[in-house]
Formats: sequence, structure tokens, C-alpha cells
Amino acid sequence: MERRIRTRVAVIGGGPAGLCAARHILSRPEAFDPPVVYEMTDHLGGTWFYEERVGTYDDGYPIHSSMYRDLRTNLPKEIMMFPDFPFDDRLPSFLHHTSVQQYLEKYCEKHDIARHIKFNTVVEKVKPVSMETETGGAVTWEIISRSTRGDQNTQTFDSVFVCNGHYSDPHLPYIPGIEHFKGKVLHSHSYRCPEPFANKSVVVLGAKASGVDISIELAQVNAQVILSHNTPPMSLPPLGIRQARAVVGVSEDGSLQFQDGSVTQADILLFCTGYNFNFPFLCPSELGLDVQDLFVTPLYKYLLPPGFPSVFFIGICKTICPFIHFDCQVKFALAVLEGSVKLPSPEEMKKEVQREMQRKQDTGVQLKHFLNLDKDQWDYYLDLARMGRFTPPQPVFESLYEEVRRQRQKDPQKYRQINYRLIDATQWELLEAPPEQ
Ligand code: FAD
Repeated sequence: MERRIRTRVAVIGGGPAGLCAARHILSRPEAFDPPVVYEMTDHLGGTWFYEERVGTYDDGYPIHSSMYRDLRTNLPKEIMMFPDFPFDDRLPSFLHHTSVQQYLEKYCEKHDIARHIKFNTVVEKVKPVSMETETGGAVTWEIISRSTRGDQNTQTFDSVFVCNGHYSDPHLPYIPGIEHFKGKVLHSHSYRCPEPFANKSVVVLGAKASGVDISIELAQVNAQVILSHNTPPMSLPPLGIRQARAVVGVSEDGSLQFQDGSVTQADILLFCTGYNFNFPFLCPSELGLDVQDLFVTPLYKYLLPPGFPSVFFIGICKTICPFIHFDCQVKFALAVLEGSVKLPSPEEMKKEVQREMQRKQDTGVQLKHFLNLDKDQWDYYLDLARMGRFTPPQPVFESLYEEVRRQRQKDPQKYRQINYRLIDATQWELLEAPPEQ
């Protein structure tokens, strides 16, 4: 039998992570067959493809994107880009979502990715085959997919990149008595624009990126907004927004009770409480994984199950520069498949994950925040780059990321008016005037 020398890779998802995986696989034709990218919708871009509809697609699957109409990025384009593919210089630093979608389409065009995407094809099952091998791990993977026309297909691969995103399945923490609430309850996944909320009283739960941004949009149409959260109060809350502690219950008369004992009635309760991890095509226990709503473990380098080092979960970390993150993870994963990274034994990999969890717990990090990298992301990229022998992201990304965080904390309403320019690998500067458009 002819010996297979090129690795066959399946990529699940045609969002930024999946496109990044495809781009790097295609750049190494001597080691990899062209990838098969499975994409359940009829378009690329994932989150960045704006869907006005909420609910389900025509085939009954839930709408994937949580993008809202007027969203502008919360990272400037200088650190949102893939490191090898800058955005157009003429764009402002903080982009409307349509510019990101156009950027991804150009990325795809430049690397000739689209012809490798199977659109309208949902992955229903990923099955490890030949589990008993000399090395102990699965060597091939069956991908069972279904097209919107209903045809089922099974194809076999040596490796799988899981790039299905994790901003789609609303996380709704339980509030005692919620059944008594008389107003409308919704999650930011189904929020598109502020007009339907004009002059209504809205309690927004959660003050992360979406909670703050949506509150600002609502206040601008004269909604009475209470932003309820347990993070430190903003010193300069945006105009028209009152802050309150967490909602701890709903009384029988439908009023919301806050942690500080105060109560209020509201027309709308809007959960901006994040999203669950969801891999409906996998059996986590088969891979030795524990998948909870906000948490997946153990993944060596936040990337691969120790017993199955040919399946890679790209981009499950949070509070990161996503595109830079995907780029490093993909390069590392390909180095693993090429054999240039020598992985520790599965036992050692599991222990390393446990040590990392312990280190975080010792510093007071709750399990549900274990995948938030934030300041730790830069050392993580250096580590991946050292092991995978590729050039790490330039130090200027870290320094600009920190600057943007300072500006966002100082003024969450105006920080997007600032424009930046990268000077070289270590320096950035402020632009006096916005770039011409
Ligand atoms: P996604 O973009 O979610 O793509 C996943 C793809 O997988 C989708 O196309 C989906 O259809 C497909 N898919 C899922 N399941 C299957 C299946 N079973 N079979 C086949 N295909 C499947 N990031 C930033 O860098 N800057 C920002 O300003 C920013 N703002 C954001 C604002 C909002 C409201 C949200 C929700 C996210 C934001 N993000 C931002 C994060 C954003 O999610 C990432 O930038 C990026 O889109 C994640 O890419 P991904 O490829 O991992 O996932």
C-alpha cells in the first residue's frame, strides 16, 4: 500500500480561526493536503457576518453570529489584524464590523481559501478511529457532515482543527424567581439595534464589552438603563447609565432585587452574561475532556487533549487579541503535526494543565475565568513560538493592548475616537487626525 506522506486536515468553521488554519495549511503543501473547511452557513467570516435575523436559519439550526448592527471593534485594527496581513491604512483604528468582514474576505482571496470551504455543510459528528495504536492515540478521524440539502457525507482525516467559535450559545445564569418577571427577557446574542428599546426601562446584566457597549447604545435612544454587575464600578459611567450591583432575585410582584437591597421594576431584562462552550459534534469524555458551560479542560497549551494530540481547539481562550492568538496557535499545531515539536507524554501534559490551574486558583482566579488570558497571553505566545520555532508576535502589540485597556477604562464611551499607528516592532504612536476614508 502507498504510504501517505501528507497530512489530511479537517477544519470545522469558516470564521477567522478556521480561515487562519486554512491559510497556514495551504502554505505548506509539502506536508499537508489542502484542508477541507466545513462551514454550516453560506458565508465565511463567522461572528463578523452580520445577520439581521434572530432565532434560527431556514434549516432550523440556531443563528450563529451575535454581531449587532452598529458594533465597532473594541480593539484597534493595529492589534486586531493577523500579524502577516495588516488592515487598510486608510481605515480608522476602531472599525465598524463590516470592515472586518471585508478584511476577512480579502484574506481569503489572497490565500485562495474559499475553494476549500464546503459551505452549507454542518459537521454533525467527529469520531476518533483506530484508537488502539502503538503510540496510544487515535490516528484518524471520521467527520460526518450534512449539507443543507440533507446529504450525509463521511470523510477521514489525520487531524481536526475545531474552529466553531464560542460566542453563539447564550449563557443564562439562573436568577431565583425569574419566572415572576413580567417584562421581556433576552440575551445579547439576540440584540441587533437599540430602537425597539427607546423610552423603555432596561436592566442590563453584565458589564463586559457587550454589556457596556449595548448600555451606551440604549441610553442614546432614551432608554432608562441600569447596568447591573459585580465588577468594580466605572468611575466615569457613560451618560444616562446608572450602575447597580448584581440582581439576586425576582419578587413575586415581578420586581428585580439587587444585592444592595434595592429593588426596581423593568420592562426588559437583558442578559449580557457571555456564552457557553458547545461542541455538539464531539463526545468530550471520549477525548478525556470535561466541557462545562464556561470551561474546558484538560487542554495542553489551551489547545489539545493530552491523549489526542491531533485534534486542536483553536481560540477557546478569552480576553485576548483573537487573530494574533489564532495565528500562534495554528503555527504551533502545525509544528506538532509536522513533528518539529516534541510533546511531553500525555501524563506530563495533564500534570502541566493541573499545575497551571492550581497556579491560577492560588491567585484567586475562579474556574470560570481560567481561560481568560489577558496579560498572560504574551508569555503564552512566546512559549508557543519557542516550542514551535516561529517568530513570536512583536512587543508593540502588547504595549498597544495595554494602552487601549487604559483608555477604555478611562472613558468607555470615547476611547474609540483615538487613532493609532504602529511605528516599528516596539513602538506605536497616536495619530493627530483620523486617517482619510
Ligand atoms: P466564529 O467567528 O464564531 O466562527 C465560527 C464558524 O464556525 C462560524 O462561521 C460557524 O458558522 C461555523 N460553525 C460552527 N459550528 C459548525 C459546525 N458544526 N459545522 C460547520 N461549521 C460550524 N474580537 C476582536 O478581535 N475584536 C472585537 O472587537 C470583537 N468584538 C466582538 C463582538 C461581539 C459581539 C462578539 C460576539 C465577538 C467579538 N469578538 C471580537 C470575538 C470574535 O468572536 C472573534 O474575533 C472571532 O470571530 C472568533 O473567530 P472564530 O473563528 O473562533 O469563531
